[in-house]
Amino acid sequence: TPCDAKRVVEEVVLQFSEVFQRNIAFECSDVSVMTEMQSEHLHQVTAILLQNAVKHTSEGQGISVRAVRQKSGLLLAVEDKGEGIDPEHLPHVFDRFYRSDRARSRSTEGFGLGLAIAKEIVGLYQGTIQVVSERGKGTVFSVTIPAR
Ligand code: ATP
Repeated sequence: TPCDAKRVVEEVVLQFSEVFQRNIAFECSDVSVMTEMQSEHLHQVTAILLQNAVKHTSEGQGISVRAVRQKSGLLLAVEDKGEGIDPEHLPHVFDRFYRSDRARSRSTEGFGLGLAIAKEIVGLYQGTIQVVSERGKGTVFSVTIPAR
C-alpha cells in the first residue's frame, strides 16, 4: 500500500527532534507526496539516516530533511553538516558490518547494519540510495523511489 511521504517523514523528523532535542529542518515540495513505499519501510529508512545524522553531528551542526516529488518518483534527502566520511570509507558504508575506524574507535555504539538495511529496503522498490560526503563538511544521503 502506498503512503504519503510528507506525513511519514515529517513524523520521524518530529520524533527525532524531540527525543534528541535537536533542531532538524524539514522541507517538502507538496502538500502530500505519494509514494509506492509502505509507510513502515519509509519510516525505517528515514530513521536510519536521521540516526546517523544525529550521531555524527555535534549540537550546533545542522541537519535537514527534504521529501520532494519528482517526475520520476520520490526523492528523500537527509543532509548533515557534521564530521563527514573519509573518501576511503565512502565506498563501503552500505556494506554489512562496516564501520569506519573513526566510528569503531569511538564510544558510539552500532553494528554497522543501518545503511545495509536501508539499502535492502530501497532495493525492494527498485530505488537507489547514494551518498555524497566531505570530511569535516558534512554528508548527504539521497534516496529515490521510482513511481510505478
Ligand atoms: P548501526 O546503524 O548498525 O547502529 P552504524 O551507524 O555504525 O551502526 P551504518 O548506519 O551502516 O552503521 O553506518 C556505517 C558507517 O557509515 C558508520 O559507522 C559511520 O562510519 C558512517 N556514517 C554513516 N552515516 C554517517 C553520517 N551521517 N556522517 C558520518 N559518517 C556516517
